[in-house]
Amino acid sequence: MRAKVLLPWGSGARCPCGSDRAYRTCCRGLDGAPRAKAFDLEPKAPKTGYAHPKCYLGHTNDCATKISREHVLSQSILRQFDAVAIRNVAGLEGADGIKDIVLPTQAATSNILCSRHNSSLSSLDDFAGKFFSSLHKAIPPIRQSNATAARAWAYADGPKLEAWAIKILAGTHASGNITVRGQPIETAIDKEKAKAALYQGEFEPGAGLYIHASNVPNEMDGVQWYLHRTGPLLCGIHICMQGFSFSVVLDAANLEPGALPPNATYRPSLHQLYGVGGDAWIVLGWRHKAEMRLYSRGQIFTPPTGSESMWPYKPLKGPPELDIRTKFNDQLTPRAERSIAPVSMTRVTPPDPPH
Ligand SMILES: [Zn+2]
Ligand SMILES: [Zn+2]
Repeated sequence: MRAKVLLPWGSGARCPCGSDRAYRTCCRGLDGAPRAKAFDLEPKAPKTGYAHPKCYLGHTNDCATKISREHVLSQSILRQFDAVAIRNVAGLEGADGIKDIVLPTQAATSNILCSRHNSSLSSLDDFAGKFFSSLHKAIPPIRQSNATAARAWAYADGPKLEAWAIKILAGTHASGNITVRGQPIETAIDKEKAKAALYQGEFEPGAGLYIHASNVPNEMDGVQWYLHRTGPLLCGIHICMQGFSFSVVLDAANLEPGALPPNATYRPSLHQLYGVGGDAWIVLGWRHKAEMRLYSRGQIFTPPTGSESMWPYKPLKGPPELDIRTKFNDQLTPRAERSIAPVSMTRVTPPDPPH
């Protein structure tokens, strides 16, 4: 049986993207589902012909001579927290890999973008700030068992979410703050792929967004990087914010097999967060119809709705019409560990080429 979800936005209602236009004249696709619009964040011509040595888009020869103080994790998101706790930060005094160091959000900056690139990409941070703040509002009613059942909806532009994640990936690479078990490591990134993702939201086949079913309840907010199996090449990033857990792959060909959990789904258009107090839906819009392929080839792991237990996931057969994903559970089960790492349940094969 295939469930159906009725989108809450009438064609005359204000568009959920936050513009002041009617849904029908803004993001509504012909089938009623929202469609992402193409964007181009390349700085306006003419090119400056200058490559700033500290700017991670310096290879485009289109930099300003001024470097800006850029928040590696968007300020629009940091603002939603009082402070950031950082673990395992290279070169930070007192970082022993065990204790969290709590920094005021202003401190989490780095000189990694010239002012010209910083302003051309700043709309990605505005977008992410709005997206995560709507999640932030949706989460409390989900987590409180005595709250009246609440249902919240959020719409996000899929390619923009992907581009924003690559901004975090490129920014952390450029700031040199990536560590493995407390030790700083050298990293590399495919600059051309990063540029295509940042400027136009374009990815190579098989790369892009994967949403994780949460196999770690109460996964901590954080980011984690996917490395090439043998070298320092950064192939993607895993982000968990407000309980929404997803990965964005930049370099699909070089991603280590098994890096993504087997229940990660590729560019799903609907993601549901649910719990005792209500549930929330994230609707991701794509320029074309969203692909609902499964990374693990034919298996979807869906925790039974309302169940106390997260384990084991029951594999369902057939393609998922809906992407029912993350479940919040405030009581950690004895088997659950707090971790920012996605736990791989079985080894997975690389994704099929898209059709
Ligand atoms: Zn719109
Ligand atoms: Zn630049």
